[in-house]
Amino acid sequence: MKTRFISEYLEQRKQQGQLRQLRTIPSGENYLNFSSNNTLGLASHPLLIQRASEYAAKFGVGAGASRLVCGNFPFHDELEAKLARLIGTEAALLFNSGYQANATVLTALADRHSVIIADKNCHHSILHGAITSHAKVMRYRHHDLKHLETLLKMQKDDAQKIIVTESIFSIDGDQSDVLALKALADHYHALLYIDEAHAVGITGKRGMGLCAGISGIDIVMGGFGKAAGSCGGYVACTHQMRSYLINACPGIIYSTGVAPPIAGAIDAALELIPKYEDQRKQLNENARWLRTALMSHGCNVGFSSTHIIPLWLKDSHDALAISEKLEKKGVLVYPIRPPTVPQGKSCLRISVSVHHTKEHLECLVKALSEAINGN
Ligand SMILES: *Cc1c(COP(=O)(O)O)cnc(C)c1O
Repeated sequence: MKTRFISEYLEQRKQQGQLRQLRTIPSGENYLNFSSNNTLGLASHPLLIQRASEYAAKFGVGAGASRLVCGNFPFHDELEAKLARLIGTEAALLFNSGYQANATVLTALADRHSVIIADKNCHHSILHGAITSHAKVMRYRHHDLKHLETLLKMQKDDAQKIIVTESIFSIDGDQSDVLALKALADHYHALLYIDEAHAVGITGKRGMGLCAGISGIDIVMGGFGKAAGSCGGYVACTHQMRSYLINACPGIIYSTGVAPPIAGAIDAALELIPKYEDQRKQLNENARWLRTALMSHGCNVGFSSTHIIPLWLKDSHDALAISEKLEKKGVLVYPIRPPTVPQGKSCLRISVSVHHTKEHLECLVKALSEAINGN
């Protein structure tokens, strides 16, 4: 009886074609994977594996405590200094995941007197942080800076305002105009918080995201779980902001420090990413080719301009059915359904990686057009 809400919820999800299940990646090299965020292939790169092992052998596999207790190792500080140098900020601060950073940094920055104004399509972790901060949360239409400005103008002069958005959107695969956002933030004395989870390793100066090399962005947030190949999150900011977060951010204070093998893997990824200019160029070319091919087959890829290409469909049942058909053909493209995207929308989210060849892309286009046409 006490768990009836659970069975009702699961049943409803199933009827709407929205039941989520954990699928294990089918093993065997015969699958062409278009769903992984391991875009540069770093998750299995020998240098990351080697450095993760070295750090484990030298420091153990766990940090043992919060960094404020006895879990702060020299490699944590060194890694943060290296990250700050690469992004072009004074300082940086590591988190155990990108989700943890978003969910807890906003809590530290805002209170019930603040206003957080976030892009409508922001990641759930940003909303988590915004809502738990008790601030007033407002949303502007996706990329609509006029709408953002209208919302900024509505606020009292002395209200603390925080603009939050992503540089590359995780599902839309489109990009923000960082300089225009910064100009608005400056003009309205708002803090600017940009999530680069999908931009790290993929774009910008030294491959470190669209905010790299642009000074004056208050919080440049990112993560190592996507193209950087392992896991963890970060915030790049001023020394003062870092000190503030060490004192006020629950995700730093109440969480065990980043584990040594992960720090090793991150360190190696930061060594490799700036050197991957050729791979990034190829990736962009491949993504452009794929978008054009899909559009010529009548597919709706929205405003994607990156390696993330959503294929928008009307019905979540369609997304699931096409995804299952593709899997039978040896192609993995997972469906994204409500509530991750608004009700009434669904997509197949394609993520191009450096390991995809032209033949792989052609194979995807062929399998997709067959699956969409009911074969
Ligand atoms: C994946 C993602 C996160 C969460 O990062 P993890 O390190 O996987 O927890 C945060 N923001 C955006 C935009 C993301 O795509």
